[in-house]
Amino acid sequence: MSSKLSGKVAFVTGASRGIGRAIALRLAADGAKVALNFSSNVSKAEEVKAQIEAAGGAAMLVQGDVAKFEVVAELIKKVVGAWGRLDILINNAGITRDNLLIKMTEDDFDRVISTNLKGVFNCTKAVTRLMMKQRGGRIVNMSSVVGLKGNISQANYAAAKAGIIGFTKSAARELASRGVTVNAVTPGFINTDMTAALSEKVKEVMMQEIPAGRMGTPEDVANAVAFLVSDEAAYITGQVLSVDGGMVM
Ligand code: NAD
Repeated sequence: MSSKLSGKVAFVTGASRGIGRAIALRLAADGAKVALNFSSNVSKAEEVKAQIEAAGGAAMLVQGDVAKFEVVAELIKKVVGAWGRLDILINNAGITRDNLLIKMTEDDFDRVISTNLKGVFNCTKAVTRLMMKQRGGRIVNMSSVVGLKGNISQANYAAAKAGIIGFTKSAARELASRGVTVNAVTPGFINTDMTAALSEKVKEVMMQEIPAGRMGTPEDVANAVAFLVSDEAAYITGQVLSVDGGMVM
């Protein structure tokens, strides 16, 4: 375990698997205490907690839907009550409900916006006053290359992920003078359960767009996040960092 983030408390949404899990493990390895948020899979989240504790770190589970304003406020309260502060927020939770516009339902649109975009507002809102008072903090929002370039069958997802970029820049402007940085990461094609659900044909097409010639790993994304939350990144705010093997340039 390194001591880069020792004394710091992090809250990671969607931490039970995939990119959120890798980020939680990495922040814990860098010395932070990590609150693991997730929506439903308790046993997967328990595994992440156990892995952190086995390595000598500290973790707690905070199950709840990021789309629900009051629920999120309670979860943040719980973490601050237990650990006394909150320094790092990683807004990572996200879902897809892909469909061509002609087939996309209102529910497909609303659910993706509520979880992926409103969820970022809910969590950020819940920590803003505290981070301003602490005169320091780090917020990293998980957008996507899809938010930069659009994608067939993902109008809902692209709208949410592009929305996150506007939100990030606005929050960054509001909080910069208090030592709080807000940045977005735009992963490309990362090997997780979310992308495992894609058809082989879609995967082949996506692979052709990646100059690096491979899918990304959750750890590739966690490495970028670890930098953005570190002291070394104090002068970087309102930025959008692609972790995509050169997909968008
Ligand atoms: P995943 O489906 O493997 O994991 C998603 C996580 O989010 C899970 O832990 C789940 O419990 C949680 N979650 C879902 N809805 C939630 C809710 N309402 N409240 C709380 N938690 C909720 O996904 P992933 O591939 O690890 O993606 C993580 C993030 O990265 C997402 O925001 C996704 O849009 C983004 N992203 C992924 C890729 C990729 O290629 N995998 C690319 C670009 C961006």
